[in-house]
Amino acid sequence: MPVAAKLQRAKPSTRPRPKTAVSRDKAARTERNCSVARTLDIVSDAWAFLIIREAFFGTQTFEAFRSALGIPRATLTDRLRKLTQLAIFRQVASGSSQRKEYRLTKMGFDLYPSFIALMQFGDRWLAGGKPPPLTLIHTPCGCDSHPRVTCSYCGEAVGARDAKYRDGPGAGRSAAKEGRNTRRASDGSRFLTGRPSSVSRALEIIGDKWSFMVVREGFFGNRRYDKILNELAIAPNILTDRLNRLVASGVFRRRQYQSSPDRHEYLLTDMGLDLYGPFIAMLRWGDRWLAKGKPPLILTHLACGHDFEPSVDCDRCKQPIVAADMRYRLAYDPRSFGALGPRSVD
Ligand SMILES: [Zn+2]
Ligand SMILES: [Zn+2]
Repeated sequence: MPVAAKLQRAKPSTRPRPKTAVSRDKAARTERNCSVARTLDIVSDAWAFLIIREAFFGTQTFEAFRSALGIPRATLTDRLRKLTQLAIFRQVASGSSQRKEYRLTKMGFDLYPSFIALMQFGDRWLAGGKPPPLTLIHTPCGCDSHPRVTCSYCGEAVGARDAKYRDGPGAGRSAAKEGRNTRRASDGSRFLTGRPSSVSRALEIIGDKWSFMVVREGFFGNRRYDKILNELAIAPNILTDRLNRLVASGVFRRRQYQSSPDRHEYLLTDMGLDLYGPFIAMLRWGDRWLAKGKPPLILTHLACGHDFEPSVDCDRCKQPIVAADMRYRLAYDPRSFGALGPRSVD
C-alpha cells in the first residue's frame, strides 16, 4: 500500500475535502462496460484463479484444494464461498457423509478456453526457452494440441490486427463496483504458487485488472498517456506504475513523439499483440455469462467481413476446446512441488 494511502486510512481527515476533489472522485467511479473487465474481476484474484485452475485438474474437496495450494483455511473458505455465490462452483454433498464437494458449474467450466488461451500465451512468451510445463492432448483427435483463438464464422485464427470493434447493445459506462482492487499493487508474484503453469506466468504480467485494461486500450488503438488516463478514469500514479511494468515485461514499448515537454506513446509489441487471444476469449466468457444478453462490444473479422464470437479451437482438428476433452502430460516432476508451505498472497 502506498504510504500516503496508509496514512489517510489510519487517520481520517476531519477537514471537509475540496469540492473539486470530490467530483473528480465521483467521475472516477464509472468505467466503460467491458466483458473482459467483468471477467477479470473474478479471475484476477490470485487465489480464486488458482482454485479454479485446480478444479480443472479435477480437485473437488476442501482438503484437496488446501493441500494442492498450501492456502490458509480461512482464505480458502472465503474464496470457495465467493466462487459459489458467483455460480462458478456449486456445492454438492458427497455420499452419506457431511463432507461437501465443490464442482465447477457450466459457467465455471466455460472459463476453460480463456485459461487455455492464457496458457498458450505463457508458453510462447514466458517459458524462458524451456519446454512448456504441460502438453495438452485433445482426446477427440488424439493429437498434441496447440489451441488457437479463431473466428466463429470462418474458423480462421484471429489476431489483434484482424478484427475491428463497434459498440454493442450493452455499451456505455457504469458505476465501478465498490471494493474493487483498484489500488492494490500490481505485484504479480502472488500467482506463482503450486504447480508450474504458463497461465500463472501470464497472469503475473497481466492478471492485475488495471494492467489488462491498459493493454485493452492498446487494442483499441489508444497509445497516449492522456488518452488512456481519460478512457480508464484511473489515478495517474497507478497508470504510470502499470505502464512502466508493462514496458519492463515487454508488452509495450515506449516511443517519444514530442520533445519539450517530452511526451511518449505506448505501442504494443509482438508479445503484447499476442495477448489478443486471451483478451477475446475472456470477452466471450463475460459476454456469455455476465452481460445479460447485451454484449458491450461487437467484433468483426476483417478477413471474412463477418461479426464473430471468438472460439478457442484445437489447431489439429479445428474443434472447439472443452475441459472434458483435454488430457495433460506433465513436463515436470509433480513430486518436486506440493511441499510449498502456506504463503500469504493477500
Ligand atoms: Zn472470420
Ligand atoms: Zn483436436
